[in-house]
Amino acid sequence: SSTAEKTQFDPLQQQLESTFGYHQFRDGQQDIMQAAMTGRDSLVLMPTGGGKSLCYQLPAICGDGLTLVISPLLSLMQDQVEALKALDISAATLHSGVTSQESMATMQGLQSGDIKLLYVSPERVLQPSFIERLQQLKLNFIAVDEAHCISQWGHDFRPEYGKLGVLRNYLPNVPFMALTATADSATQHDIIERLCLREPLVHRSSFDRPNIRYVVQEKYKPLKQVRDYVKKQKGAAGIIYCGSRKKTEELSESLQQAGVRAAPYHAGIEHQIKESTLRQFLRDDIDVVVATVAFGMGINKPNIRFVIHFDIPRSVESYYQETGRAGRDGLPAEALMLYDPRDAQWIRRMIEDQENEQRRLVEAQKFSAMQAMAEAQTCRRLVVLNYFNEYSDKECGNCDLCLDPPQRYDGLEDAQKALSCVYRVGQQFGINHVVEVLRGSKAQRVIELGHDQLSTYGLGKSETQEHWFSVLRQLIHRGLILQDIRRFAALQLTDAARPILKGEVPLELAKPRIELTATKTRITD
Ligand code: ADP
Ligand code: ZN
Repeated sequence: SSTAEKTQFDPLQQQLESTFGYHQFRDGQQDIMQAAMTGRDSLVLMPTGGGKSLCYQLPAICGDGLTLVISPLLSLMQDQVEALKALDISAATLHSGVTSQESMATMQGLQSGDIKLLYVSPERVLQPSFIERLQQLKLNFIAVDEAHCISQWGHDFRPEYGKLGVLRNYLPNVPFMALTATADSATQHDIIERLCLREPLVHRSSFDRPNIRYVVQEKYKPLKQVRDYVKKQKGAAGIIYCGSRKKTEELSESLQQAGVRAAPYHAGIEHQIKESTLRQFLRDDIDVVVATVAFGMGINKPNIRFVIHFDIPRSVESYYQETGRAGRDGLPAEALMLYDPRDAQWIRRMIEDQENEQRRLVEAQKFSAMQAMAEAQTCRRLVVLNYFNEYSDKECGNCDLCLDPPQRYDGLEDAQKALSCVYRVGQQFGINHVVEVLRGSKAQRVIELGHDQLSTYGLGKSETQEHWFSVLRQLIHRGLILQDIRRFAALQLTDAARPILKGEVPLELAKPRIELTATKTRITD
């Protein structure tokens, strides 16, 4: 009886049903909301579509003060405000695109306490005059959406986001709720540090999307490959991501010629045409959108059956976000990536040509992880989830590698050689260097460091570079080695490596399947 009573008088539960028409909280939502209501900071890591917005909207309408939502995306703010208004919730937004008249009305609404939820851009919230206003209002809490934009390690760093921590000085008693769909550990730490979260409740939902099948194919005749694939989908909805505007147009045209209802979408296309493409796609009047990454933020179409990456994305986060737009309805969907190691080589060169050293470093590490996924020898889902710190050793059964596994061999000895080499170089060096030492390279750096004196030097001479890259990557994917992206991707052994080094457990490895030309050139560079 006590649970029934509690439910009855729980304002969160009541508003969940009466305002939003939902009957149950999703995993974690209730704890997160309660944290905000009781003044505790929180960090919410949930995949896109996981239900982050409700985490702040619901406690916002239950509290008696104002709730601030900081968001970097004007269109998303606008959408949410419209949706809230439709539910009779008083919400408003302030950013550079709002007229001064609207802005004045909003300020009045704040003063009178009529507005429950205010969406603001980071620039606006950091204006001293605005902060002064806030100090005079009763604030429930501050939600920081897309919080990964705070982090230099994130794929979407926004300098003004990095400054949000100063709000704490002016509003010391207001709790923060940071939300993001990006969950690598470096980003996570950065968010906590930069927003000065105090003993936050950290919630992370599983990032697994079991209904999405991950497939990587070697790219050999891309236009034909895509055409054949799309025709087999028989009118199902899909998105094809390309690395350039020009390619989206070429590919879209080639599909149209093959009788597919396709349209291109990129930032260079006129606003009206883009809007109309989006509308047609949502109404199923167009089946395939061929797009650059400009397409997708905030897209809510549940029945997308496939996402194709015509080109390899720059990071696992992007890959995950983009593929995650498929199968929102929970029905089977497929994510196909066409991979050519030469594309990877080209991207790597572009990254290395950048001026800013910090960015160069971050992007190179992010891309390495993406490339490792493309070249994986073990379950791709494990690689993706492992990247988001979600460890499992159960292969998924729903990716190309699980469904059509590569050849396996007894890899214990190789693993021992590789792990002890990581150990011998002091766990201070990245994968390239470890492979050089294993293969007995005469490179100047190896000699200078005295690594030609190590017992593991040249231990793997008889195998190719590809072989050792593959072995090390598999060990990373299995969680036996960590790659520390804050320290030049230095390889470090985890506790799980010990029983392998001692030979206490067996270990199967896969023979490499894709020729790693990209890494080959990297080493001889
Ligand atoms: P995110 O911001 O994490 O990408 P959203 O907040 O947009 O996700 O939520 C995705 C969808 O799930 C929305 O349609 C939302 O209304 C719905 N949703 C969220 N929480 C619940 C819930 N407890 N019960 C049912 N639907 C929910
Ligand atoms: Zn798998």
